Amino acid sequence: MSDDINPAANLRAIQARIAGARDAAIAPADATRLIAISKGHDEARILPVLEEGQRLFGENRVQEAMGKWPPLKARFPDIELHLVGPLQTNKIGDAMALFDVVHSLDREKLAVAFAGARDKEGHCPKLFVQVNTGEEPQKAGVAPKETVAFVRHCRDGLKLPVIGLMCIPPVEENPAPHFALLKNYARELALPFLSMGMSDDFETAIRFGATHVRVGTAIFGSRA
Ligand SMILES: *Cc1c(COP(=O)(O)O)cnc(C)c1O
Repeated sequence: MSDDINPAANLRAIQARIAGARDAAIAPADATRLIAISKGHDEARILPVLEEGQRLFGENRVQEAMGKWPPLKARFPDIELHLVGPLQTNKIGDAMALFDVVHSLDREKLAVAFAGARDKEGHCPKLFVQVNTGEEPQKAGVAPKETVAFVRHCRDGLKLPVIGLMCIPPVEENPAPHFALLKNYARELALPFLSMGMSDDFETAIRFGATHVRVGTAIFGSRA
């Protein structure tokens, strides 16, 4: 890793760009929260961002997060930790112990596992349903046409705390239609939150009403 990365300065620059995008947007969300995606980076990169006041962080692997975050959570108790990567049902106990929010609810088996764990533990992370807006076979997420029924089943049937939708548009495509599609589903379902937009496209996502943008590389630098 090169030494010329200044995560605190990068954070301030991203915050300014978020504010600028919100000002320029015709219909931004009431608030847009920045989740700093720290996967692949160690405490040396994360601490300056914490000291700058950032409290929402995201990781994509349960195992990696378990090694990194407990000591940081002890020092900064108001950290809110988001899991943005795929979750296997056998990791659900570990995930529930560490994460406040999970962005990757994407299948029936996982929904049932969350409901069971919730009944046992008496709490459940807040959940986003991930939608595979590009219908890419290699990518996680429910198919667009199954989104409405799946959310209703999770939220109204299993009584899971589903608060919004999440997507990762195909890398080679204009993300705007994907964000628009996600927003339409959220409106149809009366879901308040939209997790969309990464380092390369968060300003576009804000135009389409993103409430949570997930920015990694633009804050912490490239991953090894
Ligand atoms: C890694 C990751 C991000 C951050 O991506 P960058 O391009 O580094 O900003 C956002 N969302 C998810 C789901 C990720 O896995």
